[in-house]
Amino acid sequence: MNVERVFNFSAGPAVLPESVLAEAQRDLMTLPGLGMSVLELSHRSSTVVEIMETTATNIRTLADLSEDFHVLFLQGGASQQFAMVPLNLLPIDGSADYIVTGTWSKKALKEARQFGNVRVAGSTESEGFVRIPANDELDRADGAAYLHLTSNNTIYGTQWREMPETGAVPLVVDASSDIFSRPLEVARRGLIYAGAQKNLGPAGVTLVIVHDELLRRSSPRSAVPTTLRYSTYADSGSLYNTPPVFPIYMVGLVTKWLLENGGLLAMANRNENKARRLYTAIDRTEFYIGTATSDSRSLMNITFVLPNEDLETSFIEKAKEEGLVGLQGHRSVGGLRVSIYNAFPEAGVDALVSFMTEFERTHG
Ligand code: PMP
Repeated sequence: MNVERVFNFSAGPAVLPESVLAEAQRDLMTLPGLGMSVLELSHRSSTVVEIMETTATNIRTLADLSEDFHVLFLQGGASQQFAMVPLNLLPIDGSADYIVTGTWSKKALKEARQFGNVRVAGSTESEGFVRIPANDELDRADGAAYLHLTSNNTIYGTQWREMPETGAVPLVVDASSDIFSRPLEVARRGLIYAGAQKNLGPAGVTLVIVHDELLRRSSPRSAVPTTLRYSTYADSGSLYNTPPVFPIYMVGLVTKWLLENGGLLAMANRNENKARRLYTAIDRTEFYIGTATSDSRSLMNITFVLPNEDLETSFIEKAKEEGLVGLQGHRSVGGLRVSIYNAFPEAGVDALVSFMTEFERTHG
């Protein structure tokens, strides 16, 4: 490609594979043989139905999903799932458990509280969310309708290594910032959701993977709006109303790219390798200080601070001049955040590691 691209470390919307962007660009005027752009196609056309089915099949193959799982394409972002999960899965007389490991799980909990009884089954808020709680710290209820957790905490740079044991309680996972970054242990999960804009494609579509048993036992309330019921999408192939066709098409291209590049195991190896190089660069010196505890470090969002805020500002500015963009931490916590989702190239990690060494040499 003859365009100048920076290394984009943004937490989301985030970098997409270049080959995917090139294919979308090449076919934007007309999909092969159609004489029409994907942006112009009726959602009832056979081509769109085929795009949606192929995308769902890619997802099934990648995640090794059995027929018991539904793959749904929704709108409203991951934030809408904060409401849809309790609306559909939390009976009026029941209770759900939430593990609070950061801003997004707190928002999920707050939203659920509007609709029913929720318990906090674990939280690391008093420690500033620098870690994931250990299994034996959790206070789960065996009768909970579900247990909700956030698999990767985009803002704090922490990630669950393994999902906690939940017995017969279905696990509901907000995987917005690490979906398909490693193999999914789907067997124990009742429902997984993710906004597309980090690891799956552009903003505008939310992927929901839900077990049939959970779906069928849902709708505990009579007054759930039709567009907020999972069954509406499961029963219509996500075509109850006009779906976000273009974002789904892009998710189709990204999931094809994932399959062509070795699937989730290959991604996990690549992601571990990329993250290790950055954590090694942080740990090598006292100049950079990682903010997450080492057992909870995220492979997707790497958070650290410098000795003072002036140095952080200068780091971000100078990095930008070198084509390393999007390194500022979330506005609520400050510091630095390096987001290296699946599509983030290894060359960008090398470039940042070199920049860190040079910055420390000149400012340390
Ligand atoms: N959950 C997590 C883990 C996130 O990182 C985000 C967005 N950064 C959200 C939920 C909210 O997603 P959305 O903007 O799609 O509602």
